[in-house]
Amino acid sequence: MKLLDRLIHHHDIQAQFWRTDFPILKTKVHAKPLVYLDNAATTQKPLAVIDAETKYYRDYNANVHRGIHALSQWATDAFEAARGKVQRLINAASPEEIVFVRGTTEAINLVAQSYGRSRFHAGDEIILTRMEHHSNIVPWQMLCQQTGAVLRIAPVSDSGELQMDEFAALLNERTRLVAVTHVSNSLGTINPVRDIVERAHAHGVPVLLDGAQAIAHVPVDVQALDCDFYAFSGHKLYGPTGIGVLYGKAALLDAMPPYQGGGDMIRSVSIEEGTTYNTLPYKFEAGTPNIAGVIGLGAAVDYVSSIGFEAIAAHEQALLHYATPLVAAIPGLRIIGTAREKSGILSFVLEGMHPHDIGTILDREGVAVRTGHHCNMPLMARFGVAGTARASFALYNTRQDVDALVAAIRKAQEVFGR
Ligand code: PMP
Repeated sequence: MKLLDRLIHHHDIQAQFWRTDFPILKTKVHAKPLVYLDNAATTQKPLAVIDAETKYYRDYNANVHRGIHALSQWATDAFEAARGKVQRLINAASPEEIVFVRGTTEAINLVAQSYGRSRFHAGDEIILTRMEHHSNIVPWQMLCQQTGAVLRIAPVSDSGELQMDEFAALLNERTRLVAVTHVSNSLGTINPVRDIVERAHAHGVPVLLDGAQAIAHVPVDVQALDCDFYAFSGHKLYGPTGIGVLYGKAALLDAMPPYQGGGDMIRSVSIEEGTTYNTLPYKFEAGTPNIAGVIGLGAAVDYVSSIGFEAIAAHEQALLHYATPLVAAIPGLRIIGTAREKSGILSFVLEGMHPHDIGTILDREGVAVRTGHHCNMPLMARFGVAGTARASFALYNTRQDVDALVAAIRKAQEVFGR
C-alpha cells in the first residue's frame, strides 16, 4: 500500500468510529445513503449535543441568573460552565471575555456597532479582504454609512491566497481596524492570521478574526494569535444553531458601550438618574439568552475536545489530499481555491454546467453539497464565476464519501452529455 493509501485507510477507520456519534448519518436520501459534504454551511450534531439540549428542557428548564430556586441555579451553573468550556477551547484569558451571541454574524455586528460606531469618524479606514463572507462586509458597509469611514480591500491571488504585501501596504495612520476571515468558506484558504495580527499591531491597529470556518477544523488559541476579537458560530462546531461567541480582549470590551439594552445587561435602572451597566460579559448579553443553545454548545466543545484538534485536522487534511487530485482529474472541472494552506473545502466549476444543476444531480445521488455564491459575491466576481459547487469536509467524512462525490460528478456530466 502506498503511504497516502495507508494514511487514508487509517483515518477512515477512525472516522467510521466517529460517525456512530451522529445519528443523522444513517439517513437515506432519494433511497441512497446520505453523503453529507455541506459542513461549511452547517455541521451535523453528535448525540451528546442533542441529548444535552433535551436534558435541559426535560430536567431543569428555567431562566438563568435571576432565579433563587433550584432549577434556575442548575440552569445557571450549566450555562456558566459552558462559558468556561468555550474559554478553555480558545484559550481566552478569562470567562468574562466570552460573550454569547446568535452567531458569527451577530458577533461582527456587535463589534461594528459598539466598537466601531463609538470610535470611527469620516475618513477612518477599515481593512477587509476580497475573500470575506457577506457577514464580514455588510456590517462594515453599514458602519461606513453611519460614520463616514471607508473600506479598503486587500486582494486575493489566483490561487486564492491573501496577497500579504498588498495587505501590509494598506495599513496606515488612518487604519482603525482589520477584519479578516481565519479560513475562507469558499476557497478553504487558511490565512496567516498570526502574521496579519503582528503587522496590524505594529501600526497600533486592532484585528477581528472571523473564525466561522476555522473553529471546527484548526486549533484556535486567541492569546497566541493575540487577536483583539474572534467570532464564531456554534452550528459549525457540531453545536446548535442560534448560538455563537464573540471573544474580545477584556480591556477592549470593557471600554465599549453596550450593543443592545434590556434585562441582564444592567446594574441598575432609574428613570430619573439613568442606567448603569453590568460587568463583562453580561453588559453584552441583553435579554434571556439561548440557554439550551449555550448548554448544547458546551456539549459540542466537550465532544471536539475529547477527540482533539490534532486528530481532527490530520483526518481532514488526509481527506483533502485524497480528494483533490481525484476531483481535479475530472475533465472540464476547475478547482477554485488552490492555496498552499487549505482546510477541507473543495470549490469547483464544471465547464458548461450551472452549479445549481450540479447540486441537483448530486443530491439525487445522495450527495449534499452547496452551490451558489456562498455569501461571497465579491470573491466570485474576482474569479469570474457566478458561483461554485462546494464540498466541505468534517471529522465524520470518509474516503467513501469522496468516492461517492467523484462518481456523482461524473454522473452529472453524463446527464448533461459532457
Ligand atoms: N463568516 C464565514 C466565513 C462563514 O462561513 C459564515 C457562515 N457561512 C459566516 C461568517 C456567518 O455565520 P452565521 O451565519 O452562523 O452567523
